[in-house]
Amino acid sequence: KEFRNKVKPNWCPGCGDFSVLAAMQRAFANQGLEPEDVVLVSGIGCSGRISGYMNAYGFHGIHGRALPIAQGLKLANRDLTVVAAGGDGDGFAIGLGHTIHAIRRNVDITYIVMDNQVYGLTKGQTSPRSDMGFKTKSTPKGSIEATIAPLEMALTAGAGFVAQAFSSDLKQMTHLIEEGLKHRGFSLINVYSPCVTYNKINTYDWFKEHITNLEEDETYDPYNRMTAMQKLMETGGLVTGLIYQNKERKSYEELIPGFREEPLAKQDLKLSKEEFDELVAEFA
Ligand code: SF4
Ligand code: MG
Repeated sequence: KEFRNKVKPNWCPGCGDFSVLAAMQRAFANQGLEPEDVVLVSGIGCSGRISGYMNAYGFHGIHGRALPIAQGLKLANRDLTVVAAGGDGDGFAIGLGHTIHAIRRNVDITYIVMDNQVYGLTKGQTSPRSDMGFKTKSTPKGSIEATIAPLEMALTAGAGFVAQAFSSDLKQMTHLIEEGLKHRGFSLINVYSPCVTYNKINTYDWFKEHITNLEEDETYDPYNRMTAMQKLMETGGLVTGLIYQNKERKSYEELIPGFREEPLAKQDLKLSKEEFDELVAEFA
């Protein structure tokens, strides 16, 4: 299954987003999906371009609004594999309200955030993920705002699947995306995806020095929410791997009263032509 298309990404050489694209393409293929089974919805930002680089259905949405589009698509046609992708500015600044409610709601989609702790597309301003003291054009004397902790936030909102990857480890990222696709309900995968042009602090080398891979720790239990929270707080979120999963939580779709297996988009409207015309006229 070929999820690559002929469009050449115009990301800067070395941008972490290349690995995210490759990991997604591998994960879809490994899961036996066909391009026509997959929709990739993106927001705005360098990362938002990803939907144009995938041989699948793509929807380049507006800033911070990838999740409402993705949830709507999934609810209309649950036969599709729906993936939303965007940056840290997109998902944790303007789109934060949608992120938190999508987690709470638990529609069966996968959300991949390319977290580079900066606004790349607009040429380097602080994002909610920037460290305090981070100097940018918008904060020449260093950021004086606290950094948002998206994974702790996701846990408190009742997330059923929380994972984190790093662009240098394509194998782990592919595996985590596959697990996210298989999870029934909303999956959040945050990816440390360095911006080589505007973030000279949180670089590949910096992450290699600071990150711990939870998969190498046999004592870590990803099915315990308390220890997941503790681990994130202890490490300042500098971990990769499956952080938390709750396989028991039902997805939004499964809880809909009168749930029908057949997707809404494929259900017979059972309207006569006259009834249909009448309905259309009402909205004309
Ligand atoms: Fe990637 Fe940063 Fe270049 Fe954007 S500006 S393409 S995030 S390296
Ligand atoms: Mg960003």
